[in-house]
Formats: sequence, C-alpha cells, structure tokens
Amino acid sequence: MKIELTTEQLEQQEVFRVFVDKEVVPCADQFDKEERLPSELIGKIAENGFLAATIPESNGGKGMDMVTHGLLCEEFGSGSASVLSLFTVHGMLAQAILQWGSPEQRSHLLPQLASGKKIGAFGLTEPDIGSDAKSVQTTAKLDGASYVLNGTKKWISCGQIADIFLIIAQCEGKPTAFLVEKDCPGLTIKPITGLLGFKAAMLAELSIEECSIPQENLVGRIGFGFSHVAGTALDYGRYCVAAGSVGLARACLEACLSYTSERQQFGSLLKGHQLIQQMLTNMIAGIQAARLLYFQAGYLKDTLDPESITASAIAKYFASTMAVKAASDAVQIHGANGCSDEYPVQRYYRDAKIMEIIEGSNQMQQIMISKYIGISARKKGRK
Ligand SMILES: Cc1cc2nc3c(=O)[nH]c(=O)nc-3n(C[C@H](O)[C@H](O)[C@H](O)COP(=O)(O)OP(=O)(O)OC[C@H]3O[C@@H](n4cnc5c(N)ncnc54)[C@H](O)[C@@H]3O)c2cc1C
Repeated sequence: MKIELTTEQLEQQEVFRVFVDKEVVPCADQFDKEERLPSELIGKIAENGFLAATIPESNGGKGMDMVTHGLLCEEFGSGSASVLSLFTVHGMLAQAILQWGSPEQRSHLLPQLASGKKIGAFGLTEPDIGSDAKSVQTTAKLDGASYVLNGTKKWISCGQIADIFLIIAQCEGKPTAFLVEKDCPGLTIKPITGLLGFKAAMLAELSIEECSIPQENLVGRIGFGFSHVAGTALDYGRYCVAAGSVGLARACLEACLSYTSERQQFGSLLKGHQLIQQMLTNMIAGIQAARLLYFQAGYLKDTLDPESITASAIAKYFASTMAVKAASDAVQIHGANGCSDEYPVQRYYRDAKIMEIIEGSNQMQQIMISKYIGISARKKGRK
C-alpha cells in the first residue's frame, strides 16, 4: 500500500510552511520569553483562514480534510507548541459544537469561530480533578430559564484570550457541557504564568461564581458532557497533539542537522561521530513512524471509521513520547549550547514534556489503548 499525499494536500502543506517560517519561527522564542501570543499574529492566522480549518464550508469554514489539518498542526508544531495550542483548543470547541451543538449553536457560533471573531477554549480540568475528568466538581443548576454555574477551572489554554469557553459541570449529578461567554458576570479570568513549557499558550484559571447563562447554552444533553461532548473535543485534541509532536520532533532534527554540520570535536564534524548519527537516526525513524500513525488516524477520521478514536490515542501516545526523546537528544547533541536560550532546543525540550500530559496524560492513553485492544481482540476471537 502506497501512502501518498494528494497534490492539493502538498500545496496546502507548502502554504502552512511558508506562513510558519515567516510569521512564527523567527518570533517563537520571544513569544516564549514574553509568555504571550501577540494579537497581530492571531489576526494573521485568522485572516489566512487557518482557524476555520475543519469547520465545514456551509458554516463559514474551510472544510479541510483531517489529514490536511494534521499537516497544518505539524507545521505549526514545528514553529511553536504554544501557537499549536491555539488551534487545538479553538478547534476542540468548534468540533464539540459541530458534533453536539443545537442547530442554533451551529449556525450562530461556527461562522464566528471560523472567522476568528470569537476564540474558543476548553474548560474541563480543575484544581482537584484532572485525569478523573468525569468527576468534575463545578456545578450547574437550572434556575428558571437559566443555568447557574459555580466552580473553578484550571490550566485552560488560551483562557486569557478566549471569548467563549466550553465548560464541563455536574448538572443533576451528571457531567454536562455548557457554553460560557468571557463577559458573563461572575466569571473571573486569572492568568497562569511560570509554566515549564507552552509558556506562550496564555493559560488561565477560571473562577466561576454564580454565572448565569441562558438555558440554550447547554451543549448536547444532560449527562453527555464527558462521554460525548468532551470525548469529541479530546479525540480531536489528541490528533492535533500527535501531528504537532511530529512537527516539534522535526524542528529538533532540523536544528541538530544544522548544528552537527558546523560544530567540530576531535577534529571532525559532530555529524561524523557514530553515536551522534545514532541519535539522528532515531529521530528520523521516530518522526516517520509517528507521521504514519497520525496519517492513519486522519484517514480513519475522514472515512468516519470509529477505529479513528483509538488510532488518535495511539498516535498521540507514540508521537509525544517520541518528541520527548527527540528533544532530549537534541539538547544532548547541542551540549552546553543546548541548555542556553540562544538555541531553540531547550524550548523544544520543555514543550515536548507538556505533549505527554495534555489531552489526557500518556498513562490515560495507555489505559485506554489497552482496554480497547483487549475488547477488539475478544470481539475478533468470537467471530
Ligand atoms: C500546558 C497545559 C495546558 C493545558 N490546557 C488545558 C485546557 O485547555 N483545558 C483543560 O481542561 N485542561 C488543560 N490542561 C490540563 C491537563 O489536561 C491535565 O493536566 C491532564 O489531564 C492531567 O491531569 P492532572 O494534571 O490533574 O494530573 P493527575 O490527574 O493528578 O495525574 C497525575 C499523574 O498521575 C497519573 N495518573 C492519574 N491517574 C492514573 C491512573 N489511574 N493510572 C496511572 N496513572 C495515573 C497521570 O498520568 C499523571 O502522570 C493543560 C495542562 C497543561 C500543563
């Protein structure tokens, strides 16, 4: 079986690459230092239609297939993991609305998300609840024609710049999804700084106190919040992280190819030493394998195959683990220079670690993958 991108996908990849090389790569270290994404960059991303990627054309989007979207995430992941996180969380909200939103939510919100008029974010994690996400403690109570929400959400990527949040709260004792606008009275947005990586992802903690939202802001049904709505969003998020991790590892490889072609030790270029070649080879093989995994997951998503969920989890698990190893080796290859902020590999190293934690930690992916493969093997055995 030959795996080959179409002419259109290759053209799109070039468009993403040119944009990232011009607008992201030269400033990524600065974003990291300043712990912010400039609004001008977000404006340019929106103008180019990148925020509209997977939103259908009928809703004002680009209707991109998932493999092309993976290429977009790979390119942005190679430039800046923090910028990638904007695509991830914005797209997670859009996908949740697309799949589970009411016709009014779809027709009203999707065009605004596609144009970048509104930036979306995803609010699941809380100070005391992370991996056990169905046990969130935020509550929502019906009061007349409104839901009243109370709780705290933590580590919300792009929380400082988002206009609208998808918030998972317990309603009638069941996890349920709601849309909360940033200017809802009772919502306080507190920036989180000083992170290890994803420093420019503009994370925030949301304090939600007696936030009253219209009844129509319920997404899906009561009790669907974790299993369906967040499930759709996280599946999409894992796919973005898988492709983004490939981009990050590629940036590590490119930095190392350039560095080892210039630096000499023991009278020869670093690239001439076999132990260095071994690290480069591992990066090359890991990148290619992880890319094939996300291509496969993207293809299964495009063909609406339910296996795509496990394929995305496998791709995210493998690609993020591979990216951590690639980034660690990239620092090693750069020696002391790799520990300096004059070289980007220290940023790659810090960002790669985060890839193993977000969208469900890699331990959660391992549990999910082994459960699914067990069920699938039992089913096949019965046939
Ligand atoms: C940069 C960044 C951006 C983020 N963005 C968002 C966002 O936009 N929206 C959002 O809702 N959240 C976000 N998060 C939160 C993220 O999703 C959580 O950190 C993640 O789900 C893990 O939860 P936790 O940190 O509470 O770890 P915990 O759940 O407390 O887990 C701690 C450790 O124990 C392991 N562990 C837990 N349970 C088990 C088990 N049963 N078996 C084996 N190991 C286990 C975990 O894998 C982890 O290694 C972000 C986090 C970071 C760092």
